[in-house]
Amino acid sequence: MADIIIKNARILTCKSNGPKIKEHMQDLGIIERGFIAVENGIIQEVGEGDGEEFCDRHTEIIDAEYKTVLPGFVDPHTHLVHYGSRENEIELKLKGVPYIEILKMGGGILSTVRATRAASYDQLMKKMIRSLDIMLLWGTTTVEAKSGYGLNFVDEVKCLEVLRDCTHPVEIIRTYMGAHAVPEEYKDNREGYINLMTERIIPYVAEKELAEFIDCFCEEGVFSVEESERILLKGKEHGLKIKIHADEIEPMGGAELAGRIGAVSAEHLIAASDEGIEAMKEGGVIPVLLPGTSFYLRLGKYARGRKMIDMGLPVALATDYNPGTCPTESLQGIMVFASMGMGLTPQEVINAMTINSAYAIDRGDKVGSIEKGKNADILIMDAPNENYIIYHFGINHVNTVIKNGKIVVKEGRLCY
Ligand SMILES: [Zn+2]
Repeated sequence: MADIIIKNARILTCKSNGPKIKEHMQDLGIIERGFIAVENGIIQEVGEGDGEEFCDRHTEIIDAEYKTVLPGFVDPHTHLVHYGSRENEIELKLKGVPYIEILKMGGGILSTVRATRAASYDQLMKKMIRSLDIMLLWGTTTVEAKSGYGLNFVDEVKCLEVLRDCTHPVEIIRTYMGAHAVPEEYKDNREGYINLMTERIIPYVAEKELAEFIDCFCEEGVFSVEESERILLKGKEHGLKIKIHADEIEPMGGAELAGRIGAVSAEHLIAASDEGIEAMKEGGVIPVLLPGTSFYLRLGKYARGRKMIDMGLPVALATDYNPGTCPTESLQGIMVFASMGMGLTPQEVINAMTINSAYAIDRGDKVGSIEKGKNADILIMDAPNENYIIYHFGINHVNTVIKNGKIVVKEGRLCY
């Protein structure tokens, strides 16, 4: 018998037996008047009617009152663990001071690196939990999180251990991203830093199972295509799965590299070439687009999400939550940029941040849709339909969050 039944629900199941492409991204697998039965953290059944046959006197019944019920959001790209904040850079940005100048003044990513190195394990944990609470309140139930503000052995490991040890309801998928920037102490010896990663940190991270993925910032002035390939393949050799920050500003061939070396996903892609998009399709790479970053960097340009969907790529969406170029935990915020900035429909947007983003972190068999046998990660939103969620923007529509079969947000408040 079920522990929980959600009834009188308009359910967007997002069901699929693989990443959704083309016209399937328009299909949310809607059940107009349905129920979901949850037992031991797993979805026991979903269907039409009220599921009475799954109830006994111990079952908790939630009447959704025909609100919109959908899978918990999966955020497949964040820089969750870091210390400090950079609101002091807003004024400089608005004055048009280029990022490289901000970096020279001691700002930018390297200021976050200094703050993160100086922070203790407990300080990092506390700040991160605050962010995870916000994510949960706004509907994110699974998140990918990268290291990349430690940039040395001790501090990269410290950040990955914070991610590993966290017991928050939001499930964290860990990525090692030492190749986020070249740290100050290696600025005249980048080869030395790459060797530190490939010879020492990657083997350690893999052996201790501190990360499941490896990521690299392949960009003009950061890591070249050749360097990225070397770093990522070293990770692969040690059993890590590949992600890559590719072609964010310049079309350097990062998307092509992702296709060639079997990356699970490639991220950003604002400047990805036609050949790059084709190579990703060939290689089965999931494009993870981050329209909040385009907006916040005032690039005036978004990744070509519309074209990628039309070409048959399973587009996923993420926040890119980080302290510099996209300081937000809210996927509901990202929905608006994806829709208004890239021309994606509400249906495509929701599939892109549920089922497709689950595949982008290799969890397509566990989360991202409301289907029998999957983890019971479920949202009830105070919205009559999916269009309304994007139409009435800038606010939080989440009423209830269920994670692994437990109610963790009720009436918009944390209750775990
Ligand atoms: Zn990123």
